[in-house]
Amino acid sequence: MLKNLFDRPLSFKKNIIAHNNLSVSFEEAQKIILNSINPLDCENISILEASGRVLYEDIVSEIMIPHVDDSAMDGYAIVADDTHGASKNNPVTLQIVGEIQAGGSIAGKKVSKGTAIRIMTGAPIPEGADSVVRFEDTKEEAEYVKIFSETAKYNNYRSAGEHIKTGDEVLQKGDRLRSADVGILVSLNYNTVKVYKQPTVSIISTGDELFDIGDEIQTGRIRNVNAYTLCAEVRKYNGIPEYLGIAKDTLKDMKGMFLKALKSDVVISTGGVSTGKYDFVKEIYSDLNIDMQFERVNVKPGSPFAFGKKDNKLIFGLPGNPVPTLTSFIQFVRPALLGLMGAKRIKKPIVNAFLEENINSAKVHHLVRGYFTIKNNKFHVSTTGYQKPSMLRSMSAANCLIILPENLTSVKAGEEVAVQLIDHDEI
Ligand code: AMP
Ligand code: MG
Repeated sequence: MLKNLFDRPLSFKKNIIAHNNLSVSFEEAQKIILNSINPLDCENISILEASGRVLYEDIVSEIMIPHVDDSAMDGYAIVADDTHGASKNNPVTLQIVGEIQAGGSIAGKKVSKGTAIRIMTGAPIPEGADSVVRFEDTKEEAEYVKIFSETAKYNNYRSAGEHIKTGDEVLQKGDRLRSADVGILVSLNYNTVKVYKQPTVSIISTGDELFDIGDEIQTGRIRNVNAYTLCAEVRKYNGIPEYLGIAKDTLKDMKGMFLKALKSDVVISTGGVSTGKYDFVKEIYSDLNIDMQFERVNVKPGSPFAFGKKDNKLIFGLPGNPVPTLTSFIQFVRPALLGLMGAKRIKKPIVNAFLEENINSAKVHHLVRGYFTIKNNKFHVSTTGYQKPSMLRSMSAANCLIILPENLTSVKAGEEVAVQLIDHDEI
């Protein structure tokens, strides 16, 4: 028996030895990957390209917003005390002494007791006024306006700097920019912004059985889906994907493609990482002096999963089946890409939800494709059906992964389970 084992080809022997040493838990795998990251350098980009990119610098305001006191409503700039006792039946009448449009000048315009200036939203408050009464509470007659309600000081009044003061830190290094953040930068006059560079990511598919889009379906062939789902994921996290093509299941072909791929910051291959006779990815790691950190993770789906480093490059050998390719990307590659881009928030939110059906667990860190809903203000989750690793449909239908930790054997309908929201932004 023992003799047989060592009579196998060299590649097989290596795999068996490595399995004992390089198998890690789900949490260990995540830790090892995060500890391997050195964030990339920075670059200046146009504000128009900034969405989804990660700030390289703290943003401290050098101006006040609003810049001056201005009106929050269309109405009349007045002295609040003048409206004392005003009501529907007993309005106060003020003399209109001018008008200020949004963008208009206040030069020479002044409100004093007994007078009002017509003012539009966003226009600067003229000297003397301390409040704005909206048009709806007034009636204009010739050069006069009747005010039908008492108005407090600073009503509909935006003070200079009430939104942002000079010296306020409004955004921080490591923030991944969303639309509102872009708006804040624009309001502070940032035409360009300093962000972390985007990681370049080479994507390699492996397998003699694979054929690409456009080719006729043939017996025994499998469409190369992974390259495209991975390109989509890499884009989603602002990496720059480069799909290198399909490597045949030979050392020579794979080596050639990996050598090309190692010019990128990150290499992702799929398939060929398990214990099959033609699974050469792990041999490629040792051939190319990639420092293998682990080659198996205690997770389902997707336990054959290699991770290695070479210089500052991260090399991920993802499983071949389309679902574990994606779930492994979400758990391990996604946080690494965000980490390379310096992002502070890299965790998908996890919440508790009531399970709507029984599930048998796999006694590993088990990720079950699920659909998360809210019913009567409570979180609920059900599975999306068949869970075979080749069945991408149940991943396509999923908006979450139900997490069943290693120590569980089964969970019953009605019990609470942890659910990772994969369509939600990182927190
Ligand atoms: P492997 O680990 O290479 O044996 O691959 C496991 C399974 O995933 C096999 O059924 C492969 O045909 C399938 N597979 C591998 N690569 C891809 C790919 N790029 N797209 C779709 N399926 C794949
Ligand atoms: Mg294969």
